[in-house]
Amino acid sequence: MTAPEEQQTGTTIWQDDAARDLVRNSADRMALFVRGEGSSLWDADGRRYLDFLGGIAVTSLGHAHPVFVDAVARQAATLSHVSNFFATPPQLALAATLKRLAGTGDAGRVYFGNSGAEANEAAFKLARLHGAARDGGAGKPRILALENAFHGRTMGTLALTGKPYMQAPFLPMVPGVEFIDSTVEALEAAIDDRVAALFVEPIKGEAGVVDLPEGFLVAARELTRRHGALLIIDEIQTGAGRTGEWFAFQHEGIVPDAITVAKGIGGGFPIGALITFGAASELFYPGTHGSTFGGNALATATAGAVLGEIEQAGLVENARVRGAQLRTAIEAIDSPLVAGCRGRGLLLGIALSSPVAGAVVAAAQQHGLIVNAANDATIRIAPALTIGDVEIDEFADLFTRALHTVQDALLLAETPTEVPA
Ligand SMILES: *Cc1c(COP(=O)(O)O)cnc(C)c1O
Repeated sequence: MTAPEEQQTGTTIWQDDAARDLVRNSADRMALFVRGEGSSLWDADGRRYLDFLGGIAVTSLGHAHPVFVDAVARQAATLSHVSNFFATPPQLALAATLKRLAGTGDAGRVYFGNSGAEANEAAFKLARLHGAARDGGAGKPRILALENAFHGRTMGTLALTGKPYMQAPFLPMVPGVEFIDSTVEALEAAIDDRVAALFVEPIKGEAGVVDLPEGFLVAARELTRRHGALLIIDEIQTGAGRTGEWFAFQHEGIVPDAITVAKGIGGGFPIGALITFGAASELFYPGTHGSTFGGNALATATAGAVLGEIEQAGLVENARVRGAQLRTAIEAIDSPLVAGCRGRGLLLGIALSSPVAGAVVAAAQQHGLIVNAANDATIRIAPALTIGDVEIDEFADLFTRALHTVQDALLLAETPTEVPA
């Protein structure tokens, strides 16, 4: 047994290493995790946490799921990488699976990258190819995207991301992108025959799990079709069953021209993909795009196994049922800090009545629960699709305790201090 002082020293050492060696592109790391299993994480001091963030909607099967472990181990021992001069069986199998789950029919194609940003970079190029093909290379096609939506951190995807504060340090942006409000009226006002594509994030995850207005996607499909523009849906956070359908657009009964996926499809193995529908599938031609790692045998075998397990174990249905159950549990929490719940399935945003999300995340961690502050007044949760009653009950208990800790601190701060005479 180590004394508390020594544990404290141990903690300080990794924080010093992180502060010295890692690029300072984000806030300080909040814990040093050494192991995971299911919805549990353990830190270097052996303390267990309930993981309700899932690595930001990534670990769909939870941590160290036997299907995931077996897929990585077997494929690593068989064939990992040969480059895209060649095909491999797991790559072809995953492309066929993604087409089937997305419902492209025969006229669909899949481009593989290694991240969400890479999937969206490919989609951006698809939009430019479509504009060029349609206007004979003469026009300057417009691309529309939604204010406050998030599409990635690379220069191309940052240009698509309607958050001026993220773009500001990196101006000038790749040109041609215009941002509109997420309303049918704004889209109607902005769209014309020069628009090559509309990018849509179906639930704005990074913005605080913000739902689109009712009917927006259906109207967007109709308007983009009428004006010869592609409808490109970013399913990077919402895909792989998280919202209770394989992909969020499927709740609306529409068919897009392309979707992008990443996060949850690999269950923790880095992979991203662009899936095209119909005529949009014929836009790329040899030499227009590529990736050394993209779609390698190791990544595609793992994603194939993860999607296979989601399907076999009925986890899309579980996301729908457990999501509704979780929402009920959140709405039943007795705390004036909870103002409501947004999102769908197992991608939920808990709206707070005060801008104390940072304090709630820290209090939750103290109580052994990992969640995320999507913004000042929203807690984002995106647990494994495998969760059941046990995890939901534990979450409700730990989250309630975290809220009470923050409430007590707020009350304490409000209590007027007696000034001695
Ligand atoms: C996470 C995310 C991205 C970027 O994915 P990376 O893998 O971080 O590059 C893009 N779009 C959405 C909606 C996301 O949630």
